[in-house]
Amino acid sequence: MKHFLLIIFFVNVHIACSQSKKTEIWEPVPKEVYSKIDSAPPSDAIILFDGSDFSNWETWGKKEPEWIINEDKSMTVVNGKGSIFSKESFGSVQLHIEWRTGTKDIGKYTDQSRSNSGVFLQKNYEIQILDSYNNPTYVNGQAGSVYKQHIPLVNASRKPGEWQSYDIIFTAPKFINKKLKTPGFFTVFHNGVLIQNHVEIKGTTTNVGSPEYSAHGEAPIMLQDHCCVPLSFRNIWVRKLE
Ligand code: MG
Repeated sequence: MKHFLLIIFFVNVHIACSQSKKTEIWEPVPKEVYSKIDSAPPSDAIILFDGSDFSNWETWGKKEPEWIINEDKSMTVVNGKGSIFSKESFGSVQLHIEWRTGTKDIGKYTDQSRSNSGVFLQKNYEIQILDSYNNPTYVNGQAGSVYKQHIPLVNASRKPGEWQSYDIIFTAPKFINKKLKTPGFFTVFHNGVLIQNHVEIKGTTTNVGSPEYSAHGEAPIMLQDHCCVPLSFRNIWVRKLE
């Protein structure tokens, strides 16, 4: 009887093993990449800014940006000198960017005037950058919002003058015959905290009116020159996802 039960047991184990193998996937094996610390670019990243120069960026009219490069390997927006664009165009990406809102003349400004900028994927879809530390504004326009479309899940903002980060997963919208086939999506971490969880992009993140899509292909990443307390950026890299 004992032997009989043992045989039944092993047969059952064998059946379970062969059943489980049916749902095992072995190929293709994910590529191995390495990162030293969480903010450092992985081995397959494209470095867009490491503090050296603006060689990967241009402003309107394909001109050299007139923002400032600092000794601490950051760049600072010069208001009025225009937004800057990556020279390379991208589709879906993982983007890492660090930014620091300013402290200069901060008492003069509130609301949307405190270090307002933004990182735009494909020039059209903005994740808002703003000093949202003790600085009330409309919540669909605070730091980490998909501008005027999605309120961040939490406010993970640090004080002005402290470095912060966004890790953005952007799925590009797809168009066929100039018509939208599938919308875009954002997942965003602010200082390591999930603030946008696979939210659907409703169209260009416009300030006035309702968002609408306008067909386009791969396009640059844009950093916005908006208003009023200058802010800085550093350590910008992307990984292509398609
Ligand atoms: Mg903005």
